[in-house]
Order: sequence, then structure tokens, then C-alpha cells
Amino acid sequence: MDEPHNIDDQLPTMQPQPQSTPMALKTSSTRSFSNHSRDDICNFLKEELARSTELVTADSFLRFANLQTLWDSTEWSKMVTKLTDDETQQQLKRGWHGIPNETDQYKPFCDWVEHLIPFITELPNQPSARKIRFLPWGNKNLGCTPGFLGGEEVPGTASAFRPDVVCIPSDVTDFGKWSQVLVPMEFKKKKSSSTARGNAAPSTSGTPTLEVPPTPSTSHSRSDLKRSRPEDDESAGQEKKARTSTAYPTHRFESLATPSSSPAGSSHSPTLDDLQLARYAMETLAAVGDRTHVFGLVVKFPGVALWYFDRCGAVCTSALNLDTSEGFLPFLKFLSALVYMGDDALGFNPFFADSSNTTAAGIRKGLQDLTVNIPDYNDTSLKLLKELDRRTGLVGRATLVWKAQLRENGGESGGTARDVVIKSSWQHSARKPEWEILSELHEQDQARNHIVHCFHGWEQPGATGSSQRVRFGQPAAHIVDDRALRHTVLEYLNPITELSQPFHIPSIGWNIMQAINFLNDMQWYHRDISIGNMGFSIHPDCGGVLIKLHDFDLSKHHSSNSGAPHWTGTLPFMSIELLEQPTVEHKIGFEVEALIWTLLWIVRVYANGVDENKPADHPLRTWFTHGNNLESLAAAKMRYLQMLVGYTNEFYGELEVDMADLAFQWHDMRNDQLKERRRKNKPKLLSESLYEMPGFITIQEWMTEKEWNSPREPCSCGEHCVYLTP
Ligand SMILES: [Zn+2]
Repeated sequence: MDEPHNIDDQLPTMQPQPQSTPMALKTSSTRSFSNHSRDDICNFLKEELARSTELVTADSFLRFANLQTLWDSTEWSKMVTKLTDDETQQQLKRGWHGIPNETDQYKPFCDWVEHLIPFITELPNQPSARKIRFLPWGNKNLGCTPGFLGGEEVPGTASAFRPDVVCIPSDVTDFGKWSQVLVPMEFKKKKSSSTARGNAAPSTSGTPTLEVPPTPSTSHSRSDLKRSRPEDDESAGQEKKARTSTAYPTHRFESLATPSSSPAGSSHSPTLDDLQLARYAMETLAAVGDRTHVFGLVVKFPGVALWYFDRCGAVCTSALNLDTSEGFLPFLKFLSALVYMGDDALGFNPFFADSSNTTAAGIRKGLQDLTVNIPDYNDTSLKLLKELDRRTGLVGRATLVWKAQLRENGGESGGTARDVVIKSSWQHSARKPEWEILSELHEQDQARNHIVHCFHGWEQPGATGSSQRVRFGQPAAHIVDDRALRHTVLEYLNPITELSQPFHIPSIGWNIMQAINFLNDMQWYHRDISIGNMGFSIHPDCGGVLIKLHDFDLSKHHSSNSGAPHWTGTLPFMSIELLEQPTVEHKIGFEVEALIWTLLWIVRVYANGVDENKPADHPLRTWFTHGNNLESLAAAKMRYLQMLVGYTNEFYGELEVDMADLAFQWHDMRNDQLKERRRKNKPKLLSESLYEMPGFITIQEWMTEKEWNSPREPCSCGEHCVYLTP
């Protein structure tokens, strides 16, 4: 893997194709499965697992549980001897053995394990045991959690698939949700399903890429690997068409902080079963969004492989042979870990423990109405009100965003309360945290007019991939692109699409230009100007709207340069130049162009604040389909600039002249760049008059000429635009 750059985070699976971009863009996805074929999912997960899985010995794996004292005790040895000699146990295991059909093995396996559990839970002198049971499943779909956007479920992102066997708490009587799963299990089919050398890997050759938006903005990964299996048992390559989503694509592109992410010595070749288990793990992590990691099992008689998944990848053992004591003993220890490990160790994030009582984080349906404490700030709590955004992935930045009530200095009822946003996301640990960036920018007073305010921010201790790996006895240095769990409490901004009327567009354009300018003055680039990263608050005095930029996860100081390319943005809004030259250094003109694309998008796609276009006949599908061919995206966008008419839908019809003019303005500026390139014989030159400050000023002057700088429906102070016309 020595591609010049890896693109990471929330992007569609793109299979590098020879005829596409000159450099093989290695990309991966964290949440676009609902729109991808089974082949894509397999290939994507295969790649992610191959480069991130650590194969360890059972001893190393079990260190995570930190139960050595128990396993060294005489009670434990006695129990192991008793179990090994137990007639019923042997009989049950034989009952499992020899059953040819994979699906018929689930119950005998569970019967066997269920016989083992009481021996473990009834060990004397132990702390309270977790009551668990093993449930054969595999025949009924388990509804997946749909994606969320702006607090609403993203249509078309609900899906379902089924794990073979699950370990759940005993007190779950109505099992049927991923949030109830403690440990998912995958049973190996008899047929070899190794993809190790690519022989059985589903190939995409000859399979056309699905032409649907690569991903809904906030849906997390959805797929249906399992459901398609019974029907096409013998034909892994004959995948069913993936379901599509109606949501628009606002996934982001980001190059990794480090150029290569292939850990030295890591050469795990995931099988289809491993990939399937990884899908279950992702779904378990996604269900509520409050898990840091999850364990899993791949079972093939008489072997069981232990797995662990988090946002930096996976750790696994080779198959333990349950017919030998070398295999049986570690398996018993693993079961005892499920019984005696704390909730934190099992992957329930301690941050999401209820502050109002002593209940630890654990199995729950959701986080609604939960009150959590902000560490290190006495008397400061957050009550989670409404889920706004949930993205997940196996490897990559999973993000959970809730609207919440921040209460300071006064506990349950006293003190001040305000609506905020709590964002918990897994970020590159080497990258500067968003709260630091924002608090630096807010040292300037005018920041409040342009960018989101940040109240608190902290990194959860001990949650990085490397610190988790240390618990397996692995050296921390093994983690490339390590991720940290960061919580940020931010000002709540209404979605920009709620500024839904035609008279809002000029104000959005002008105000975001001023925000770009402010950031530029502060030596910052936002680098992900998009429809999802603009919002507004209402000025308490005049009733006008304050339009601001938020989500600074991808932002960058002008001078910071890690040496690696930083190709970032949200596909439909990315500059033509970035699509044509992904390695190019970021310029202010890319921010301006992203704003122009965002405005052009809104006036063509939205009506009264709603986008009801289906992906299949989406009017701007050429901006995001063929996602694996950036040149064709660039060409399509270039053509769009010169179509002269048809920039607005009926709803925005009154803006047609302005929007056509803006498109042609940018087209002319690009043409001038072309002329300059020819004149200077520099085919890749970035023109100052397009992408540097002079280009910014040209567009700003264009806006002033069109009077975009004076609100068409002003507030009482006259400076801002109103939210709605009275
Ligand atoms: Zn005002």
C-alpha cells in the first residue's frame, strides 16, 4: 500500500479503476453501505481489516480482561477440572459436532455454552457476576439503527440483517435490537470462505458502480450482507443490488494525517466470516452510539477465534481448538471475562453514565433524557434532548451529535440552562482538537458573528486506540492514525436549510463570504464549506439571523503542514481544481468555490427547506456519481457552469438571473486561469485571480454589485436578514 495518499473518513468506497484518476486514490467508507453493493462492502472491510487487524496470542488477548487473579485461584482450577470431566458438557459438545448445516449449529453451540456459564458464575469469592445468555438467532432480521440528520431519521437508511448467535444480558426478555447485543457471533460456513489471496473475494470487475449518491449525510453504514446469504449461498459474487437512500450526499473527504497506514508486520487476511462479524460489530457500536469497543466470536467447530473491534481496527486470535485444553481453557477465560469484566471493559462508554444516580453505563435503548456530567467542571451537566447526527464506522471517525441542555452551577434545577450541542467524535489524536481551534479563533470578538461558539471540550482519558491496545499487551507504537474520543460542547445552530426562502440566499452567500474572510485573516481554512456545516442563530435583540460556520474538524492553519496531502471536503461542493488536482495545497478560492456550489445546490434541489429528490433522478447527480472518477466529476461541474439557464428550480425561480450570473462569473474566472496557464506554459498553475485573495475580492465585489450585502428582508437593526417574513 504505497499510494501517494489515503483518503479517510466518511467517504464512499471507491474501487480504484485504471481509467480513472491518475493516482490510485485509496478510499474507504465509514457510513455509506446502504448505497453500495455487497462487493463494495466486502472490499472495503477487507481492506480496512487487513491493514488494521492485530493477530495476537490468546494469552495476550485475555490480558484485556485483567482477571489474572481469578484465573490463578484454586477455585478456578477446580472449576476447569470439573468442567473438563463433566459428562453433560462433553455430550453437548459432541451434539454440536458433526452437524453439517451451519444454521443448525447455532442452537447446539448455545446449549453447550449455556451449560458452561453456571460453572463460571457460581465461582466462590467473586464480585457480582453479570448474568448473560447465548441466543441462537440467524433466522430473523435485526433492525438496524437508521441514520440521523438534523434530528430526523434519514429516509431509506433503515435496514436489517442478522447475526448467527448473540450473547445478551439474561434480563433481556424481548430480544430484537442491536443495542441489546453484548457479543455478536459469526459461524463459519463449511465451505472455505477465505479471501486471503483474493481467490474468493467478490470481484467488481465488470460490475458497474451503482449510480446513487455515495452516502446520505448522516446515515451510518448500512448493509445487508447477511440477508443476501441464504439465497446466494454459493455465489458470493452475485450480489443483490444494495438499497439506496433518498438523502443527499454530504460525506467528507479527508486524507490521513500520515501518508501510509499499513502497520508493519500486520498481514491479517480477513475471511468473509471475519468481514461479516465486523459488520455485526459496527452495528453494535452504532446502535446507541455509546460503545467504545465490542468483542465478537467467529466459530467453526472445533475452533473459536476471539475478536475485538474499535475505531482503530481489530485485534483477534487464531482459532482456539476447543477439543484441546490449549483451546478450551482460553475460551473459558473469555466467557469468564464476559461475566466478570466491568461495563467499561465490555465497551460501554463511562461518559454516558447517568449523573443523577449511580447507574453505570450499560445496556440501554437510547440516550434520550440522559443527564451526564462534564468532567472537571463541578455542577456542570448536560441533559441529552435530541439526537441530531450519528455516523459510525469500524475504522474512522464515528460521530455522535446530540442537542442537549447545558446546566451550569446549580445541579438539577438551579443555575443557568441553555441549548447546546454535544458532539462526541473519534478524531485523529495527532490533530488539534476542535475546541482548541475554536477558542483561539474566539479570542477575536468578531468571531461570534462568523463561527460557532464552543463552551467546553475534553478528550476522554484512556480511550485512544493505542491505550486500548496496551491493555492487550501490545506496544502503543503499533497504532498508525490513532484516534481519540473527544467531546465538544458547542452553541446550537439551526440548520441552514431552515433559511428556506429565496430572499435568504444572498444573505447566506454574503455572510459565509465574511466568515471565510474572517478565518483567512486569522490564518485558517475551514476546508469543508458545505450545506451541513453552515447554521444560524437568531439575534435576541433584533430578531435577525446570524449565519455561521461550524464543524471545524477538517480545518487547518495556513502554516501547518504535516507533509502529507490534505484533500478534504464534501464531494458535491468540492472545488473543480481539487477534483482535478487532489494533491494541491489548499487555497482560499477553494472555500469560495465550495460556497458557490453550496448555493447552486440549494437553489436547484431545495423547495421550502426540503429536498425531496430521489437519488436515481437527482438533478445534480453528476456532482457526486462516478465518485471513483474525479475527472468526470470535475468535467460535469465545469459543464454545469456554462449551461446558461436552468440553475434554479421553480421555488427559487426569482434568483435565476443572479445564480446564472454567479455560475458564469466563476466560469469566466476559470477561463482566465486557462489562458494564463497557456500563456505561461504552466498547465497546473493556480491563478491568483481565481484561487487567491484577488479571486475572493472579485466574487465579493460581484456580491456587492448584486446587493447581496444588504439584507432583502432586514431585521429591526437593519444589519441582518430576518428568519421569516412577518
Ligand atoms: Zn439585526
